[in-house]
Amino acid sequence: MAYQFDTLKIRAGYNPAEHKQSVQVPIYQTAAYEFRDTQNADGLFAFTETGFLYTRVNNPTVDVLEQRVAALDGGKAALGLASGMAAISYTLLNLAEGGGRILTTPYLYGGSFDSFGRIYPKFNIHIDLSPNIHNPAKLEADIKEDTKAIFVESVSNPTGAVADLEALAALAHKHGIPLVVDNTFGTPYLINPIKYGADIVVYSATKALNGHGNLIAGLVVEAGGFPWDNGKFPQILQEEYVLRDRASGRKRSFLEVFPDAPFVTRIRLVYLNYFGAALGPFDAYLALIGIETLSERVAKQVSNARKIAEYLEKNPHVEWVKYPGLKSDPNYTLAQKYFPKGPGSVLSFGFKGTVEQSGKFLNAVELLSYHVNVGDARTLIVNSPRTTHGELTSEEQQFADVPPNLIRISAGLEDAGDIIADLDQAFKKAFN
Ligand SMILES: *Cc1c(COP(=O)(O)O)cnc(C)c1O
Repeated sequence: MAYQFDTLKIRAGYNPAEHKQSVQVPIYQTAAYEFRDTQNADGLFAFTETGFLYTRVNNPTVDVLEQRVAALDGGKAALGLASGMAAISYTLLNLAEGGGRILTTPYLYGGSFDSFGRIYPKFNIHIDLSPNIHNPAKLEADIKEDTKAIFVESVSNPTGAVADLEALAALAHKHGIPLVVDNTFGTPYLINPIKYGADIVVYSATKALNGHGNLIAGLVVEAGGFPWDNGKFPQILQEEYVLRDRASGRKRSFLEVFPDAPFVTRIRLVYLNYFGAALGPFDAYLALIGIETLSERVAKQVSNARKIAEYLEKNPHVEWVKYPGLKSDPNYTLAQKYFPKGPGSVLSFGFKGTVEQSGKFLNAVELLSYHVNVGDARTLIVNSPRTTHGELTSEEQQFADVPPNLIRISAGLEDAGDIIADLDQAFKKAFN
């Protein structure tokens, strides 16, 4: 039976009968798993039997999280990792291994923007930041011979640029490359990028997916069905000794042995196995509990974000407000199409005042928490240009659409009136 989203978020990937009838998913706090016998060990190493070997590579608690998120996103398989940054880096390394280009936009999480320019080129992976992301016809000119993927955020951090996923997927597929979507701000509740043609979806589960600001985790979801054998991805077709057929000794490729999900399986057995950013079972357990209330939390956060954005729009100390749920926002039309339930819980505004007044405002906020992170149950406020996007030079900040007076708010689950009253008193103190 095909269950709806709200049933899957509570039930998918878990059968109590396989876990001593435990109602909640148990925390398998173990490094390794005992083989039943030599035949079992042989079968596990030959990939003819499924099971668990070593928690760096797989773990029963993490496995439930992976299956649950794959179900929520309509993917064939998912891989849990120690952070969102591990999910992004392993994905891009697995795509452009040995050298190549990734085409993306300047509208990115600060850590992505920063790492793209600073570390990937040292691995001979060049990341092109094209401002033409809203103009697929122009963007096509930025796809080069060795471009291995298009990477975008479904709705971007911090200014809420909404990606036209259908147009981007069509463009990527025309050039034989996958569309990779960072759906951290979207969450599977608001949007399933795979439905619009995305091939790989990555998450920082640290944010709204878990929603309680109490762990660091990431996931990679594979849609399945991408033609990895089109000549651009030899690493996925390479014949591997570890994947050999034990009877004949013939070496086999990831695509041959794992046709449903060759991409995430290769990340698991190569990058996770060798580079080791494993997600611990306790953090996976916390993420599963967070996901049980994903819809309820995100719906309330969207409602609070909208109320805060509407309040700010009317405030005389605010130069502009960016939230794609506002009619005045340039992303409004795309948001209506891709985010019918609302474009997430993050908004930003331009503080109209001196740097000193802006500092006074932030120091005067009492209820809201002043720190980085988003998607938390608590409402968070931060001056992004000095913090989350602080590693970027002022030219890079301008390119990323992060002006010096930008303040970002991630709406939490408190009473909207209390949040607005707190902002109001802080504005009054800043301008008294
Ligand atoms: C936070 C974040 C990341 C990085 O995730 P971590 O779990 O902090 O490593 C990546 N992408 C986006 C959009 C984020 O907000």
